[in-house]
Amino acid sequence: MDLVKREITVETITPYFVEYFGHEPTHIAAAPGRVNLIGDHTDYNNGFVMPMALEKHTVVAVAQSPTGKHRFCGSLGDQIYEIPVEEALSVGEPFWSNYVRGVLAHLERRGIHVGPVDMLIDSNVPRGSGLSSSAALEVSVCMALAAYAGVQIAPTEVALIGQSVEHEFVNVPCGIMDQFISANGREGHALKLDCASLSYELIPMDDPSVSVLVFDSAVHHSLADGAYAQRRTQCEESAKIMGVATLREASLDMLENAKAQLGDVRYRRARHVIGENARVEDFAQALRMRDWDKAGAAMRGSHASLRDDYEVSCAEVDTLVSLCDRIPSASSVYGARMTGGGFGGCIVALVKTEDVDKVASELLEAYRQEIGIDTAYLITRPGAGAKVLYQA
Ligand code: ADP
Ligand code: MG
Repeated sequence: MDLVKREITVETITPYFVEYFGHEPTHIAAAPGRVNLIGDHTDYNNGFVMPMALEKHTVVAVAQSPTGKHRFCGSLGDQIYEIPVEEALSVGEPFWSNYVRGVLAHLERRGIHVGPVDMLIDSNVPRGSGLSSSAALEVSVCMALAAYAGVQIAPTEVALIGQSVEHEFVNVPCGIMDQFISANGREGHALKLDCASLSYELIPMDDPSVSVLVFDSAVHHSLADGAYAQRRTQCEESAKIMGVATLREASLDMLENAKAQLGDVRYRRARHVIGENARVEDFAQALRMRDWDKAGAAMRGSHASLRDDYEVSCAEVDTLVSLCDRIPSASSVYGARMTGGGFGGCIVALVKTEDVDKVASELLEAYRQEIGIDTAYLITRPGAGAKVLYQA
């Protein structure tokens, strides 16, 4: 995980933009990465999720391009890619430009014709660690281009555009959670999202005595894509057998009644989704009461269910979660679980703030000893959602 604590602001990105393009940016926007506190593999079942925005952002600076073509630069130190305006509306090279191309194409469909722009992207969201650098990119690009074009797009619309970009331009059949929290997050709050209606509740999570520790397993097992598609199919089949449109509408009673028809695998997949939706509600209740033991218990239940019933964890991530119970400072950890799609990526833990540094360094050492990997972590509070930082 790239853990450079470098802050990115209007003041830091502007001189780079001038260096690259020879003139100042006119619009700058930022959008955060996210960590999901609880509710995994529920989004595509129309269920509940509870992410929070990280204090890590992707920042996008734009201005009109004097060349008649787009000029995109994906990160500091990267080269400039010159792309004709019409060509930028379809899939192309470099790979990351598809996140930008997709946003341009969606704006065009809405009648928002963005002429040639110079664009510089800078980010401190770790890439490909399951913290949604891709959502941070789509949402920040959309915010910056909307501001540049002088149009207002509601945050939820921005999120939906980002999700379509993943589907159509990057071939990632994701749910709405990542883009939604990036667009709608609020400092000091977790967000409970109903993926069926897109109604949401921002729940204060600002108790200074509790910290969120995000710890990278530093492994990614390649079976993730196939397993994801398979899980989706199993959920659809389970819902059909129980006679409901999605697992959101299923109950534990229905599950037990259909146990024989479902068979063991589908029974366990459905049990995870039904139980996970209930755990999101338990966690939300615990947050409202600042009952951190209860919140931690919901997280532990979530991990066990993802590991045993949904079978999307892996040995390294299970080791990390179990180490949270075995390190010397284990009593300072309220709860821990895998977070995100699974088969690697990060765990998230709620930890007593006074001991969080100690817990993190004990985990680093123990993970090195048991798995042989040197990895990284971040300690964060719920950060702010996307915003326009500057308009000339
Ligand atoms: P995650 O969203 O969990 O970080 P993904 O695989 O969905 O992982 O997205 C990572 C991809 O997003 C990168 O491979 C890259 O193509 C693109 N990306 C993310 N952030 C940036 C950035 N700041 N500049 C260019 N490309 C980026
Ligand atoms: Mg992503």
